[in-house]
Amino acid sequence: MQSLSYGVFGGTFDPPHYGHLALAETARVQLGLARVIFVPAGLPPHKRNGRLSSPEHRAAMVQAAIADNPSFILSRVDIDRPGPHYTVEMLRRLREQFSDVTAWYFLMGEDSLHDLPHWYEPKSVLRQASLAVMHRHGKPVQLDVWRERLPELEGKLVWLDVPPVNFSATILRRRVREGLPLRYLVPTAVAEYIGNHRLYDGL
Ligand code: ATP
Repeated sequence: MQSLSYGVFGGTFDPPHYGHLALAETARVQLGLARVIFVPAGLPPHKRNGRLSSPEHRAAMVQAAIADNPSFILSRVDIDRPGPHYTVEMLRRLREQFSDVTAWYFLMGEDSLHDLPHWYEPKSVLRQASLAVMHRHGKPVQLDVWRERLPELEGKLVWLDVPPVNFSATILRRRVREGLPLRYLVPTAVAEYIGNHRLYDGL
């Protein structure tokens, strides 16, 4: 069987920005991924409950952000089903949908890796996909501790060599509130979408 690798990049993407895109494109090149699937979260229990832009807005912004990259695609797998939206189930569904894919990588920043042992069924996540992680500033993950608690991590972790983009969507939402531009921080189409729909103004 010919090898075919896909990446999965989950996030709230409220809004998607160049940090996300740089991570995804680096992973594509470094890991030889045929596709990176962006998966906007449904309604994550731990994130800004009630203050998250609607799934439709976030999906539309991701679509606008990735439109010029033929290797990037959007999946509504977590938007079109009721929660809770566990990664393990999202991966299972994507693997079913793209059954010819032979290797899966779950992409994330190091801040998300911190939470891994608290994910629902982390062992099963690691059976389905390797983790492709980008270092981010802040507290480094204590991998020795993780490996002890989660031996399945061995051989399943790849570090991505991404030039750091040190801002998050939180900072961009704050900029909108403060009337500051998003130009050069998000793709033009995303900035236009935010402006047209007056997202974040009142947050
Ligand atoms: P928020 O500030 O709302 O928490 P965020 O910018 O961190 O948002 P998310 O949608 O929560 O974005 O994150 C999706 C994934 O993207 C996570 O794995 C996160 O680590 C990663 N990520 C976020 N910002 C960056 C960045 N600047 N560079 C690389 N990866 C990033």
